Amino acid sequence: MPESTTTNAGWFARAEAVIPGGVDSPVRSFRSVGGTPYTVVRGSGATVTDVEGREYLDFVQSYGASLLGHAHPRVIAAITEAAAKGTTFGAPTPGEVLLAEAIVGAVPGLEQVRFVSSGTEAVMSAVRLARGATGRDRILKFDGCYHGHADHLLVAGGSGVAELGLPGSAGVPAGAVADTLVAPYNVVPTLDASVACVLVEPVAANMNLVRPTEGFLEGLRAECDRVGALLIFDEVITGFRVGLGGAAEMTGVTPDLWCFGKVIGGGLPVGAFGGSAALLETLAPVGPVYQAGTLSGNPLATAAGLAVLSEVTDDDYIALIDRTRRFGSALCQAIRDGGLWSCVPSAGPLLGLYLAPASGEWSAPSNYPESRAIAETGLYPAFFHEMLHRGVALAPGAYEVLFVSMAHTDAHLDQAVAAAREAAAAVARSL
Ligand SMILES: *Cc1c(COP(=O)(O)O)cnc(C)c1O
Repeated sequence: MPESTTTNAGWFARAEAVIPGGVDSPVRSFRSVGGTPYTVVRGSGATVTDVEGREYLDFVQSYGASLLGHAHPRVIAAITEAAAKGTTFGAPTPGEVLLAEAIVGAVPGLEQVRFVSSGTEAVMSAVRLARGATGRDRILKFDGCYHGHADHLLVAGGSGVAELGLPGSAGVPAGAVADTLVAPYNVVPTLDASVACVLVEPVAANMNLVRPTEGFLEGLRAECDRVGALLIFDEVITGFRVGLGGAAEMTGVTPDLWCFGKVIGGGLPVGAFGGSAALLETLAPVGPVYQAGTLSGNPLATAAGLAVLSEVTDDDYIALIDRTRRFGSALCQAIRDGGLWSCVPSAGPLLGLYLAPASGEWSAPSNYPESRAIAETGLYPAFFHEMLHRGVALAPGAYEVLFVSMAHTDAHLDQAVAAAREAAAAVARSL
């Protein structure tokens, strides 16, 4: 193999030879939008640069792991300083205590957290804790919500009322999902006393953006309380993204357990799950629920996470949300001006992006089938490529959301709106 590979196609060909599909996480492969992925060599603030030297205004931001933008100086300094002292010990460190204090201090109702190395692990462990604490096996999740790739959560959704799910991937045995119920998002299911926990994205951000409707989360809280089930908020995306207190604070509904990931690692591999001290002390070594990790609470990751959390203030979130809201309306209008139907819902600084032919009758989705119906009009891939061609990187899939980082300026957002107007017009012309 030539060491002098300089093109995206060249790097991706080399990647495909040694990494399945050329990627370590499927969405990156561009399979759902077509074409060859750009291979990133560096990022700075709101932009990333590929191996060909092309710079993109980046709305992927590592699917939400980056809040301050890429390569923030405070985060680099924190990681560098931590690395010089040793990268992992297998013993308690001050860094994990400081990050736990910062998280617990920011989220009303949260008393203890345990760190893991990914969002998947956080949710998987929270579910085990809920089962161990309640002595019940059944769990309930919602159609279209993503909770990482643990077997019992990789389950295909039902269509109507809550029903037992089917394996959502080859390699997941039916037995692994036998205790997983799947219910439609935004409908409060009726539970019984066999249910250990209800797991939900309090703002759904893995089926494009779907906001919780009025009363949905409140209804889940009441229904869980009625049957003694635990309510788990998967805040892997929303935690420290929609505000310091996450979606729980934003919606005013307090879960029993929280799952975090993405933002709290400052771009390094971290997850965490938490709740009341009484509940968390069901975990080993205090209680009977086993959970562990060689690199859990890793010093580099906790230093990066702490650098991010100590950098941002409530005012920064208010400004980000305000900037994003104006961007969302301008983006929607620009796409409509270009001749397509569009809807850009927001939840804090998270933006959804729905596109369809102007001839159809559409409205903002409130569940997965409605979101899928819009995605299946098939306009997103063309729009994605028209944007990429104009130097704006959206996620390469119609079910992701836009991540506007703290490093995106009004000028960046104006640039994206201008690109969207042209991109939409180009897509509309091709219909
Ligand atoms: C990304 C994500 C996960 C999984 O986190 P990983 O770090 O990718 O394992 C879980 N839940 C939600 C809501 C997510 O967005």
